[in-house]
Amino acid sequence: MDIQNLLEDITGAVQPQIGQGQVAGYIPQLGAVDPHQFGISLVTKDGEVFSAGDAHVEFSIQSISKVFALALVLSSDGDGIWKRVFREPSGNPFNSLVQLESEDGIPRNPFINAGAIVVTDRLLSLTGDAAGAVRALMRRESGNALVDTDHRVATSELESGHRNASLAHFLASCGNLENPVDEVLESYAQQCALAMTCQDLALAARFLASNGLGAEGELVLSPAQTKRINAVMLTCGTYDAAGEFAYRVGLPGKSGVGGGIVAVVPGKCAISVWSPGLGRSGNSVAGVAALDEFTTRTGWSVF
Ligand code: GLN
Repeated sequence: MDIQNLLEDITGAVQPQIGQGQVAGYIPQLGAVDPHQFGISLVTKDGEVFSAGDAHVEFSIQSISKVFALALVLSSDGDGIWKRVFREPSGNPFNSLVQLESEDGIPRNPFINAGAIVVTDRLLSLTGDAAGAVRALMRRESGNALVDTDHRVATSELESGHRNASLAHFLASCGNLENPVDEVLESYAQQCALAMTCQDLALAARFLASNGLGAEGELVLSPAQTKRINAVMLTCGTYDAAGEFAYRVGLPGKSGVGGGIVAVVPGKCAISVWSPGLGRSGNSVAGVAALDEFTTRTGWSVF
């Protein structure tokens, strides 16, 4: 298959969707991003890289960081996190408060905000610097030592992040945080504000397509943990649109409100797409369309 040609074709095919939807204006810095951009990168499990469109433009990875934080916690701490976070789809928006109260402060899954705040809290206990640990993983796996937090985005999120603050305080009131709320929220905002390109992200996610094997030949996760994290991405990675994403794309995937999505074809490749316009559930409109095109044209879905 001519993958380069395919990515360029897909970039052409999704032009009508680019700019559709809304940018994530609830984080003011993200509201200022030009929505008329689209990038796509694919990295094979053996490390071959293909890119098209704006694949070398940095964007805010936001919730995509949740996968990497979870990978770090699972690899150093095993299954203990599952006592503090469930792994069922929520059917609710990523920043919803309602379910958390009725389920006694145990978030539905690690990819909604409440669950990710718990994972970051654990990573902070394990490392002393949760965002630094995610950043180091990203740098190593992408091979780009310049990957860094965009502090303007982190500050912007902290200043306007009343919902995450309420989720974190509620978690603390239920005894489901180990560290002070302010420290957890700051770490969470910093990991979400990592700025990366499609190519960086596809490279960083390659271990999810290769049974956990990382860029330097090390095991980022065991093959069994890799299977499980991909399963949680499939069922929970795109929030209350996870069913629609499985229907259209049919791959484990994780989106972020910066407009990025990482998807995994287990045993074959990792793909990263980016376009800032979001649909109602907070997933990139053109990004989902591109992944739909990709699996429809190649037949590379898990179904
Ligand atoms: N930092 C964002 C928030 O907490 C991440 C949300 C997302 O990407 N879905 O609201």
